[in-house]
Amino acid sequence: MTTRVLVINSGSSSLKYQVVDAADGDVLATGLVERIGAAGGVITHEVQGEKHVLDRVVPDHDAAMAAMTEAFADHGPQLHEVGLIAIGHRVVQGGEEYGRPVVIDDDVVRVVTELVDLAPLHNPANLAGIRVARAEFPDLPHVAVFDTSFHSTMPARAYTYAIDAEVAREHRVRRYGFHGTSHAYVSREAARLLGRTPEQTNVIVLHLGNGASATAVRGGASIDTSMGLTPLEGLVMGTRSGDVDPAIVFHLARTAGMDIDDIDDLLNKRSGVLGLSGRQDMRDLVAAAESGDAAAEQALDVYCYRLRKYVGAYTAALGRVDAVVFTAGVGENSAPVRARALEGLSVLGIELDAGANAAPDRSARDIATPGSRVRVLVVPTNEELEIARQAAEVVSR
Ligand code: ADP
Repeated sequence: MTTRVLVINSGSSSLKYQVVDAADGDVLATGLVERIGAAGGVITHEVQGEKHVLDRVVPDHDAAMAAMTEAFADHGPQLHEVGLIAIGHRVVQGGEEYGRPVVIDDDVVRVVTELVDLAPLHNPANLAGIRVARAEFPDLPHVAVFDTSFHSTMPARAYTYAIDAEVAREHRVRRYGFHGTSHAYVSREAARLLGRTPEQTNVIVLHLGNGASATAVRGGASIDTSMGLTPLEGLVMGTRSGDVDPAIVFHLARTAGMDIDDIDDLLNKRSGVLGLSGRQDMRDLVAAAESGDAAAEQALDVYCYRLRKYVGAYTAALGRVDAVVFTAGVGENSAPVRARALEGLSVLGIELDAGANAAPDRSARDIATPGSRVRVLVVPTNEELEIARQAAEVVSR
């Protein structure tokens, strides 16, 4: 019996896929169908180090899935020959219903559909991927792996918003948290790097990609995380504001004549470092700040200060912290962001080694000074492998 899983991450305008071995992480093929619904789509299929790029019109998710199966048929590996045991689907919002991954049946599809209200930007696209994949591969078990599940261990004091309890209950308003597969994978890898079991380890994971979130992980379980009802709360991100005074919404509605959709667009798509500086990519932002661009410098400062505040808050939440762990595009690659985020935290026992931080290295590594009480780690995330592992575990039960 193999342990190979086809992992599908179906977004609103893209479909990412990977055939990966859940046991050893070996990647047999990976691909991306981009610009679904736009005039011209692009399919990139990579197998054995070779990249195949195809231009194709991809009007919808059915066409995207057809393009994926065609890419496998034309360039390999042949999906019916690799011994797939499951298809793992990334699903953003699992609500209170799903604290763990589940095998998808019609009931699961119904519940995930009911959760669309909570994740209007994400769950519909995830569901579209599930629908076409179930039709295309009816004989394989399909497993939903939720971004929210890892945070289902948060205590009520962390997930409860202090608003009218009845309103909150009726409309399922609470903090759910996201990036769960990444936080789960990275916190476990961090424990391994520290030579401990996850149960013995307390870490603060900083997942810094386009979206960004911080999680306090105690003994392998999430006890608090920075994203909330939606992925808008918490850290400053590429285009999202993170934490703001909610009264900004009322203020803009009353004084700027903006409606709810305008404000939603403002806070989700035109804020964060992009809104502050006109630059979304952290490489551009750091380069501009270094060359004296005042807006870029300020955006970087706001971004890193927010990170520092969360590290402080989660140190208080955890009591004992074994490591602060950086991951995802910015966290894995940006030495300046890591250095600025942890500036002045020696009072918390966190001391970054400047040389180790700046060294170009892509592996999981420790970049704290030898004497630092709290370790500082960089751990590359691997959400596809985590989804594959969780899917394999569910179907092997
Ligand atoms: P996503 O949230 O889309 O999965 P990633 O985790 O891939 O994002 O992170 C993407 C971001 O990582 C980019 O927007 C860019 O700002 C940042 N990034 C990637 N490489 C580097 C680098 N070498 N230095 C600084 N930032 C980087």
